[in-house]
Amino acid sequence: MQLTKLEIKGFKSFGDKITINFNEGVTAIVGPNGCGKSNVVDAIRWVLGEQSTRMLRSEKMENIIFNGTKNRKAANLAEVSLTFDNNKNVLPTAFTTVTVTRKLFRNGDSEYRLNDVKCRLKDITDLFLDTGVGADSYSIIELRMIDEIINNKENSRRNLFEEASGISKYKVRKKQTLNKLRDTELDLSRVDDLMFEITKNLRSLEGQAKKAEKYTLLKDEYRQSSINLAYYRIADFSSELERLQGQESKLNKQSTDAQEHINKAENALKQIREDNLEQEKNVSIQQKATQEFINKIRNYESEKKLKTNSLRIFRIKKAD
Ligand code: ATP
Repeated sequence: MQLTKLEIKGFKSFGDKITINFNEGVTAIVGPNGCGKSNVVDAIRWVLGEQSTRMLRSEKMENIIFNGTKNRKAANLAEVSLTFDNNKNVLPTAFTTVTVTRKLFRNGDSEYRLNDVKCRLKDITDLFLDTGVGADSYSIIELRMIDEIINNKENSRRNLFEEASGISKYKVRKKQTLNKLRDTELDLSRVDDLMFEITKNLRSLEGQAKKAEKYTLLKDEYRQSSINLAYYRIADFSSELERLQGQESKLNKQSTDAQEHINKAENALKQIREDNLEQEKNVSIQQKATQEFINKIRNYESEKKLKTNSLRIFRIKKAD
């Protein structure tokens, strides 16, 4: 595995994009004090996932973004990419070239990329595990670290030997395994809690299941009883219907007979009315004839009276 290229943009003193190609042999970066040589090492450490601002010689993480100069605006994004040649498949991936990228925005957002695909920091640390490459490995040594190793600060010499002899990766794995073990123990106690809860719920569910079973039985019984009741009612209704139909036909017959009677009576009444009318006509004719007779009699009577009077007057005159 060979480090082939480092690209830096907006990181610390590098406002413009710079590319450093690591060709065959040794690559040395030289320059006056303060020109940014250590910043190159910081960039490599940072892109591999360094989280400690102290190790990056900065007060806070935001300070690693290019701050600008008198004539240049500050950058909003720090971006570093590190490319490896993976021809010998040291890195556990199918790619022959692997590029790791880290970005940090001034608003605090950050992202990691593997061959330009977004990923987690864990994906990058897992990829470089056991290869001696990493933010806290001794493959990246700055001037300050040499002093620390000489003075054996915080057991740094022992750490260097442990890493060189390959022990540190096992220590890391041991730490990871112990962490996993602790997590698993926590999970197990959580499982116990869950089991307790589930058992409690199970009891109440069993009660509910029994009730549901009883409910189903009762529902079936109720259904069967409803069907029987319906049959019984249908039979009852049928005999009642027959009885009512018999009654209806009897009443129909009675009604027809009565109608016939009514028709006959109406015909007789009609005949009586016609006879009455005829008789009334006759009566009126006779009344008219009677009236004429009466009139004639009255005429005769008044004539008789006149004549009687004339006769009386005649007799008086004759007697005189
Ligand atoms: P020496 O040879 O003395 O160790 P060096 O070449 O290693 O120096 P560095 O320490 O890498 O220099 O760089 C320091 C320079 O980087 C300083 O001039 C500092 O102002 C600049 N610098 C650091 N952080 C930023 C930043 N966020 N923005 C702009 N410049 C920065």
